[in-house]
Amino acid sequence: MYGNGLANKIGGKIDINELHEKLGHPEEEVTKLTGNYMNLKIKGKMENCENCAIGKMRQKNVPKGPKETTKPGYLMYIYLTSSKYTSPGGSKYWFLAVDEATHMKFSMFLKQKSEMKEKSVPFLKELQHTYGVKVVHIRCDNAGENWALEDELFSNTLHREHQNKTE
Ligand SMILES: [Zn+2]
Repeated sequence: MYGNGLANKIGGKIDINELHEKLGHPEEEVTKLTGNYMNLKIKGKMENCENCAIGKMRQKNVPKGPKETTKPGYLMYIYLTSSKYTSPGGSKYWFLAVDEATHMKFSMFLKQKSEMKEKSVPFLKELQHTYGVKVVHIRCDNAGENWALEDELFSNTLHREHQNKTE
C-alpha cells in the first residue's frame, strides 16, 4: 500500500534522516508523524538538511499565516511529496494533511499532482460534514507551487461554506 519503498520497513526501525529524505523532505514534525502513522520505529536525531535549508530560504517571501491554534481544523497543513518510488498501483505522490491543533493526520497516495485538487476537495468536505471540523486555513508546504491550489480549495469549498454558515 505504501508507494515509496518504505513498505518493507513497516513495523521496523528507520533512521529519521533516511525517512525524512524518503518522504521528500517534510518537516521534522511531519516526518515523525508519518513514521508513527506507518508504525515505524524512528531512531536517530534529525540533522540539518541542506535540501530543506535551501527550500526554507526560498520560502522567505511567503506571506505569514496564523501562527498557532488549538482549534481543530483552524489550520491544516497540507504536504504533497513526490516519491522516487512508484507504488504497484502507480501512485507517485503522497498527500498528507496534518491538523495543527490536534495533529490528526490524513494520508493518501496520488498518481498525479492534479489529483490533489480532485481528492482534497471531497476530503475537506467530508471533514466538515462528517466530523464537524471546519478547515479555516490551509497551508501548503511547497507554497509557490501550490498557491493556486490553496486559492482554489478556498473558493470552491471552504470559503463559501464557511461564509454560508457564519453570515
Ligand atoms: Zn530535508
